[in-house]
Amino acid sequence: MKDYELNTKNDRETAQFAEKLAELLEPGDVIALEGDLGAGKTTFTKGLAKGLDVKKTVNSPTFTIIKEYKGRLPLYHMDVYRVADSYEDLGFDEYFEGDGVTVVEWAHLIEEQLPEELLTIYLYHKGEDQRKIAVKPKGQRYEQLCKEIFR
Ligand code: ADP
Ligand code: MG
Repeated sequence: MKDYELNTKNDRETAQFAEKLAELLEPGDVIALEGDLGAGKTTFTKGLAKGLDVKKTVNSPTFTIIKEYKGRLPLYHMDVYRVADSYEDLGFDEYFEGDGVTVVEWAHLIEEQLPEELLTIYLYHKGEDQRKIAVKPKGQRYEQLCKEIFR
């Protein structure tokens, strides 16, 4: 499979990539975000929100697990870092199958509950303000999406 990657020089570039991606998103799309603390998962989500015309400020939902925002499509922003038991069914399906776009920070922590098909975005530190972003599609919908973004 082709590798879909890009490097960003600052937080703005990461947000801009997400903003561009947001324009192609459809109801029911799920994006998994992986990367260390400070890698840029929330920064990416803020850009995505902007691209979805979300007017409210997006903050890390660390203490609430899920935050919902109104936009061109609803945005469901999850941070599952503090979800202790990954096997406990917390009803995430309702979001994944909903009319909005779901973004999950630390998605691998609820691996068992993720949908079959999704777009995983890995953010790697490459220096103070440099990041490598690797995008891995799973399923035809997301393969197609990658082709469009990286065209
Ligand atoms: P996470 O949600 O992964 O813990 P955040 O998005 O909250 O990460 O924080 C990322 C931090 O790194 C922010 O302070 C952001 O300004 C900074 N930063 C510096 N360079 C970049 C970059 N290229 N992409 C994203 N964030 C960056
Ligand atoms: Mg975060």
